Amino acid sequence: QAKNNGRNTFSLFLPQMEKEAQLHSWIENELPNAMQQHQLYLQYQPKVCCVTNNIVGFEALLRWQHPEHGFVSPGEFIPVIENTNLIITVGEWVLSEVTQQLANWRDEGLPLLPIAVNISGYHLHSPTLIPYIDQCLRQRSLNPELIEIEITEGALTGNSDESINAMRALKEIHIKLAIDDFGTGYSSLSYLKKFPVDILKIDRAFVRECYSNKEDAAICKAIISLAKSLELQIVAEGVENQAQLAFLGVQGCDVYQGFYFSKAVDADKVSALLMEPADTAL
Ligand code: C2E
Ligand code: MG
Ligand code: MG
Ligand code: MG
Repeated sequence: QAKNNGRNTFSLFLPQMEKEAQLHSWIENELPNAMQQHQLYLQYQPKVCCVTNNIVGFEALLRWQHPEHGFVSPGEFIPVIENTNLIITVGEWVLSEVTQQLANWRDEGLPLLPIAVNISGYHLHSPTLIPYIDQCLRQRSLNPELIEIEITEGALTGNSDESINAMRALKEIHIKLAIDDFGTGYSSLSYLKKFPVDILKIDRAFVRECYSNKEDAAICKAIISLAKSLELQIVAEGVENQAQLAFLGVQGCDVYQGFYFSKAVDADKVSALLMEPADTAL
């Protein structure tokens, strides 16, 4: 069974791949072909304002549809390649795809909202990330405010000087930065003072029972109030029901994402979502 950092665990296809090492080498071998054969694609999950219920942006999420094995979850394959050069190849493909999508929507006359892209620590720390993003934006004449970079809290531990330099470089090209899965990374909060962060995303693990579990409620409240006093935008992940949303709204959470509003959708469904009046979504 594959280990995937406590995320949505499920057993992957073949019984002979029970051994983690076999699964790892299968992924490392198949993924380069998968890219060439267009088995990878992106879906977009709306980010929604807690107050107005309007869509304020999207997060791009990677999908892999294998012709024989079906859907392979990013929670399964990203951790396997996360500390190899393959994550840079994949990350560059995502950045190119997202900026091309934005350019297409612009050319179709659709309103443009920011898209958040997940970037792994290994890629953040490589000298190629900033020039690559810059090139993607320039080639398509896009405003940098349309791209946000999400880095998991866990990716920042132990690399603090490197991380600070990379984040400052992103700021210099006017890219917003989010800390993803906040609260799960066991890192010192002092980095929030040092790092030029714009957005905190509360991990789904704390949101799940925030309205019923005393400890989770306390953690969500503390994270929201911390974000407020540091003047960071706060996003709650994994909102699935009205009770969670009501609790988060009262606490002053700014933005939410979750199946309650919408799961991630294909690019061609995005325009339909944007046309829906806000009040019919609830
Ligand atoms: P993440 O960045 O924290 O993304 C949120 C995950 O939670 C997504 O899973 C999303 O589909 C799921 N989710 C959203 N709302 C809900 C909800 O209401 N309930 C539940 N149960 N789940 C919800 P997904 O797409 O399977 O992605 C898993 C992780 O894989 C992501 O976590 C991210 O860390 C990584 N990932 C996905 N795409 C990329 C990518 O392009 N690059 C990199 N480096 N990592 C990626
Ligand atoms: Mg994310
Ligand atoms: Mg997250
Ligand atoms: Mg998460």
